[in-house]
Amino acid sequence: MYLDTRIARFDAAPGDRYRPTSTPIYQTATFEQESSLGFGEYDYSRSGNPTRTVLEERLAELEGGRFGFAFSSGVGALSALLRASTPRWILIGADLYGGTTRLLERVVRPLGIKICSVDTTDLAAVKGALASLQRERVLRRGEGTAGLVLLETPSNPLLRVTDIEAVARLVHDACGKLCVDNTALSPYLQNPLALGADVVVHSATKHLGGHGDVTAGAIVTSDAEIAEAVRFLQNAEGSALAPFDSWLLLRGMKTLGVRVVHESRSAMEVATFLEGELGVGWVHYPGLKSTPGYEVQVRQARGFGQLISFRTGDLKRSQLVAEGAKLFHIAVSFGSTNSTISLPCRMSHASAPNELIPADLVRISIGLEDPRDLIEDLRRVLRRRDSPLPKANSKS
Ligand SMILES: *Cc1c(COP(=O)(O)O)cnc(C)c1O
Repeated sequence: MYLDTRIARFDAAPGDRYRPTSTPIYQTATFEQESSLGFGEYDYSRSGNPTRTVLEERLAELEGGRFGFAFSSGVGALSALLRASTPRWILIGADLYGGTTRLLERVVRPLGIKICSVDTTDLAAVKGALASLQRERVLRRGEGTAGLVLLETPSNPLLRVTDIEAVARLVHDACGKLCVDNTALSPYLQNPLALGADVVVHSATKHLGGHGDVTAGAIVTSDAEIAEAVRFLQNAEGSALAPFDSWLLLRGMKTLGVRVVHESRSAMEVATFLEGELGVGWVHYPGLKSTPGYEVQVRQARGFGQLISFRTGDLKRSQLVAEGAKLFHIAVSFGSTNSTISLPCRMSHASAPNELIPADLVRISIGLEDPRDLIEDLRRVLRRRDSPLPKANSKS
């Protein structure tokens, strides 16, 4: 079956004798047992809950993996994964979500795990970084998961594209595991497991939930060893998603396709407009042919997503744009029904300074509004007299 059919058609309530078409919220902490000597299928909602099970199977299905897990947030999922895979080293993409960098630097590094960063869009650099880990003997063959490579593609907020298949090959040659944070595109547009990744993580708060009303995270893998360790931590640490939030996510995911298609189409129009207004090189969007990585994106994904970032020339002007745009809420996060605008350097990435992110970078997330209104809104703020175009681009 094609993806849209698989999203629409699923057993919402396996085993329920009333056959509801929407998954019931099993709002219960505990389940009565038939015997005092052992447990039935469910015993306690921290360990497992039927609403969450339906969700976790949906997540696995959409990413094409064998095992799915739902967590109370995206960083909760990342935290479980980073420890479940017990790596001796972690190699990260140079451009990651700020909260991920904070988790790595301030929680994981102090545990004694070596963390290095590399520009994963540069395959020679990845190869070099893996070779240097090998030389340090941090990485040895035949010892389980020597290490983990964690990347985002397209990355957030610079939207740089990494060739997942090529990096997976290098990582596997070095006996590591590859984890891709697939939040930016959602499983509707990209499936890293099919391209060779071992694990996929999501901030389900974004596209999967899609309405900005739930905080959630997901892990999907076909690696039984990692899945076992993740399942153990999810229960041992109590980080699983609650029944009501699982239901919200299930509900949001039903419309993933229509939202992502509409938003991506609008984003292409907005990005094309911005490039015309600001100039080539000032707009980052993997759907623009001028963007490095465009060919890789076309090869490995089914679309370009709805995140765009652009520069205006200076921080003051970016602030005027963000504060002057009427249809874009100033907010962190993305993937909701309404468009948002933010300055990553001061907002989502402020907790983890990254010299790659220019101070004047503006990130926008395209929602379900009519793109003609969004373009008009941006045209108005970009052409304000008190926010002159950057010198390099000003049209006389
Ligand atoms: C938001 C985000 C996260 C963190 O997810 P939360 O649900 O906010 O904990 C991780 N990765 C990416 C790419 C994100 O955008």
